[in-house]
Order: sequence, then C-alpha cells, then structure tokens
Amino acid sequence: MGNPQLGVSTKNGEDMHYSVGALIKNAKDEYLLVDRKKEPLGMAGLAGHIDENESPVDALIREISEESSLKVKSYKLIFEEELIWSSCSRGIHVHLWYVYSCEVSGTAKLNKDEAKSMDWYSKKKISELRDQGKLEPVWDYWFNRLGFF
Ligand SMILES: [Zn+2]
Repeated sequence: MGNPQLGVSTKNGEDMHYSVGALIKNAKDEYLLVDRKKEPLGMAGLAGHIDENESPVDALIREISEESSLKVKSYKLIFEEELIWSSCSRGIHVHLWYVYSCEVSGTAKLNKDEAKSMDWYSKKKISELRDQGKLEPVWDYWFNRLGFF
C-alpha cells in the first residue's frame, strides 16, 4: 500500500485522507459486510484509503479485489462527503469519502488480513447490528443516510 494522499490538508490546515467505500448488494437484497480487523473496528462495507496518484474508482476496484476477490462490473457514486469525525488507524480524523454502489462478479472470499469475517446481511440484520452497537460509525452513518433506520 502506498501513502494515502500525503500532504493534503483541509481549509483549517488539518491533515486529511481520501477514502472509498463500496455498497455491494446481492440478488436477495443483502449487503456485503466485513467485521474489520483494523481500526476503526466494527461491521462495515468494503473500504479503504485512496493511494497517492490513484483515482477513487481505481481505489474502489483495488480495495474490493483485495478484501473480497470480487470483480467490479459497474459502479455508481452515491455519496461524496467530507467527514470530520471519521478517524483511521493512522491518526487522521478528516476523511473525504467516495461511496459507490457496485455491481460485482465472482464469489466473495474473506481476506483474513483485513477482516475477521465476511457475510451478507439484510437491512433488518444491519438494523440489529446497529442496535447492538456493532456497526462501524461511518457505515452506521451511510446506512442511516440510505434510510435503513
Ligand atoms: Zn485515514
């Protein structure tokens, strides 16, 4: 992995990173979530940093491949938003997120370096995960914005 957008700052001079997230739904209206091994912990969609000189879409395709072995067939940008409370393991608190809704092919395969588990969850189950405090905050936020809760 390269260095995500080093030297990029917000208007207030705070360091920031760029991130991509993938909303992946199967034919049964279930969403692919992983139980993250890295901070921030919790149940989350596939996501990661955008490397230096990498486009959001290239990062999306790479992260999905690395984390699940799935191939992206098509994608649509659903959120582009700077979150000032979205922290990562590298101690950066501001992330500009690009979240895509994706069509994929292949079979989802867990990458044990990235996640403890990976599975498909219905909206109802995602709502239960939220009630149990198990959703990673950023994904709690996206699912809320999508009207899941
Ligand atoms: Zn970061």
